[in-house]
Amino acid sequence: MNLCDIRTVREILAAFGTETKKGFGQNFLINAAVPEGIADACCDDRDSVIVEIGPGIGTLTQQLALRAEKVTSVELDQRLLPILEETVGEFDNLHILHGDILQFDVPQLLEQEFPGMHVAVCANLPYYITTPILMHLLESGAPIDSITVMVQKEVAEKLQAPVGTRNSGAITAAVNYYGTVEMLFTVPRDSFLPPPNVDSAVIRIDVQKRYAADTKHPKHFFAMLKNGFSQRRKTLVNSLSATMHYEKPVLLDALRELGLSETVRMENLTMEQLVALSNCLSEKDSSGEEKV
Ligand code: SAH
Repeated sequence: MNLCDIRTVREILAAFGTETKKGFGQNFLINAAVPEGIADACCDDRDSVIVEIGPGIGTLTQQLALRAEKVTSVELDQRLLPILEETVGEFDNLHILHGDILQFDVPQLLEQEFPGMHVAVCANLPYYITTPILMHLLESGAPIDSITVMVQKEVAEKLQAPVGTRNSGAITAAVNYYGTVEMLFTVPRDSFLPPPNVDSAVIRIDVQKRYAADTKHPKHFFAMLKNGFSQRRKTLVNSLSATMHYEKPVLLDALRELGLSETVRMENLTMEQLVALSNCLSEKDSSGEEKV
């Protein structure tokens, strides 16, 4: 079955009395080159084991099952389960689970599906929860080697902007803490049914925990990102004194120690400087974790 053929997609949905649901971020792929490209980018070899988020009617799922050793797909919309049975039920290396990925304990899910193995995650993500899903996966500490996902093009650009440049933000630094981000290819909106209002792009995050060893208080680091970037047009001194209640002299002291200007903004700091600032500030707190 050609799941990328727009007529086939419409027929399947009609046969099951179903329509795409905007609330679940449902935009199904109808351009065959795209799921093939995503699956190629995600599956490093035939031994790959994959967790897919949001299989929809199985378009990307099919390409993953053809390339990987085993695939487990988690779908939130119960109405799609009988459709998936029909479209991809024939694959014996595929396991479909019903549920909300944000409610899953990811390390437990991986241990149950792929005991002792390192996993790749793949998805055409529902755009309304892209950031929560990425952070849920990365923060879980589960043995995930890579995450290959389609996101809004604007989000992809933000994620791959070098930390410390204007386009970067809290999510850029948070993701860089866990790994490296590569933009793979862009996808025009007419590749989906229904077409979303924005263009999309596929990115791959290779998880390496690059900055974990140098960060003394990770909780403080993430709290500082969230607070500092929430008022990003302000100077760092003004935004962190307002949001984390630091005395201004403490912040000025820290900037001096790091050789940074008093008027610097959060968005000007490189990853190394953000880590050093968090280390410096959390040491100035009596408990280290006080400002979290
Ligand atoms: N992979 C398919 C569908 C992508 S649309 C394709 O490319 O054609 C996004 C899919 O994610 C939908 O099937 C939607 O129901 C599902 N979804 C939305 N929120 C989810 C969540 N929290 N957990 C798991 N799946 C979710």
